[in-house]
Amino acid sequence: MATTVVVNGTILTGENGAVPLERGWLLIEDELIEAVGDGDPPDAESVIDAAGMLVVPGFVNAHTHLCMIYGRSLGSDRGLLQWLGDEQIPIMRALEPHDYELSMRLGAVENLKAGNTTVCEVFFSPHYDASVDQISAAALDASGIRSVLFRCTNDEAFFEGFVEDRRDIVRRLEDLHARWPNAGRTRVGGGPLVPWGSSAGSFRDLVALSSDRRFPLHLHTAETPEYNDLVRERTGRTNVEMLADVGALGPSVMLNHGVHLSERDIALIAEAGSPVIHDPTSNMLLGSGVAPIPQLRSAEVVIGLGCDGPACNNGQDMFENMKYAALLQKVVARQADVLVAEEVFRMATAGGAAAIGLGDRLGRLVPGFLADVVLVDASGPHMTPMHDPLASLVYSARGSDVDTVLVGGKVVVRHGEVQTVDEERVVRDVAERARVVRGRA
Ligand SMILES: [Zn+2]
Repeated sequence: MATTVVVNGTILTGENGAVPLERGWLLIEDELIEAVGDGDPPDAESVIDAAGMLVVPGFVNAHTHLCMIYGRSLGSDRGLLQWLGDEQIPIMRALEPHDYELSMRLGAVENLKAGNTTVCEVFFSPHYDASVDQISAAALDASGIRSVLFRCTNDEAFFEGFVEDRRDIVRRLEDLHARWPNAGRTRVGGGPLVPWGSSAGSFRDLVALSSDRRFPLHLHTAETPEYNDLVRERTGRTNVEMLADVGALGPSVMLNHGVHLSERDIALIAEAGSPVIHDPTSNMLLGSGVAPIPQLRSAEVVIGLGCDGPACNNGQDMFENMKYAALLQKVVARQADVLVAEEVFRMATAGGAAAIGLGDRLGRLVPGFLADVVLVDASGPHMTPMHDPLASLVYSARGSDVDTVLVGGKVVVRHGEVQTVDEERVVRDVAERARVVRGRA
C-alpha cells in the first residue's frame, strides 16, 4: 500500500458550498483519497508540498476530439459545416495509423498539463479498418490520463469515407469494449457521431449495446440550426424528439452541445436524465450560439464542461472554458449571478464525472474517491492577491499555472513537466507529420 500526503495547500474539495481548507492536507492510499483535513497532517511514505497552491479535483474534459489535433488552427473563422468539409475532413482522410498514436499522445500531454485528468475522446475516423480505435485507446492509456474513448460513427450520411456498415459498427465496438472493458482507467463508449448521420436502426443497435455492456454513449446534439434542419428533413422531428423516438435518451447518453433546444426538448432531456455537455469556447469560435445553461440547470439536468477538439477551440484549457462558460451566460442574461464561479467549477469536475457515470467516485476530493488531484500555483502576479480562492481559480487562473497532477494517486505532471510522455519529441513529431499530411490533403 503506497501512501502520499499533499500538505500546506488551500484545498477546494469541489463539494457544494464547501469552505476552502487553508493549510489543508490530503491523504492518498494507492489510487484513492483516504482522508482530507486541515491542521497537522498525518504521516505518509511520500509528501507533496503544496504551499502557495490551490489543490482541486482534476478536471473532466467531457468532450474533445484529439483525433483532429493535426487540424489545429486550420480553417479558422468559418462556420461548422464549412470548416469541417473544406479543411478538417481532408486532413483527417490523409492520416495514417501511426498519426493516431501521435495525436493521442500530444493531446494527453496538453490535457494533463492543464489539469484535465479525464478526457472524453469523441473519436471518429475514416480508417477504422486499420484498428485506429484500438491504437488510440492504447496511446491514451500509456499516457497515464483517465479517458473514455467514444467510438463515434455514421451508417448513413456524413462526409465521404466516414460512413461504416451498420454491422461493422457493432462488431468493432464489441471488439474495442472487449479489450477495454468499463473497469479501469481507460474505458470505451460508443455513439452516433452526428444526429443526421445514422439510421434509426443504428441508433437502436448502439442503445442496445450500451445497455447490455453498460457503457455510455455520446453524440453531438442540436449544435447549430443547420444540424437541426438536417434532422428535421430526415425525420420531421426536432433533434431531441428524434432521439426520444429511437430510445436514445437516458442517463447513459451524453448529449453534447445542446445549443438550439426548445422548451419541450429540455423537458424531454430532463425527464430521461441525459447529461448535457457544454462547450462554450467551441460554440463561440464556430459561431454556433449560446446553450441555455440556466434553463437546463433549472430542469436539474446534469451538466459537464468540454473544451471540444483542439481544432475547434483551439486549445484544451478548462480554466479558459470555465471562465467563458460563466461570462457567456452573464452577457446574455445581463445578470452577473446567473452562473457563478462555484457552479462552473462543479460542472468542470463533479458534473463531468457524473455524466460519464462516475459521479460516486470521481470529481471531488473526498474520502473513497479516486485521487485525481491538481495543484495550481497561485503565486503569479495575475493571482495576487487572492481574497477568494474559488473566484481566483475560475476567473484568474490559467492552464499554465498547473504545477502537479495526480491521476489515480500517481504523479503524472511534476512542476509542469509530464512524467509519462516525451513532450519535446511528440511536439516535434506532430509538427513534422502535420506538414506531410497537409501536403497530401
Ligand atoms: Zn465535437
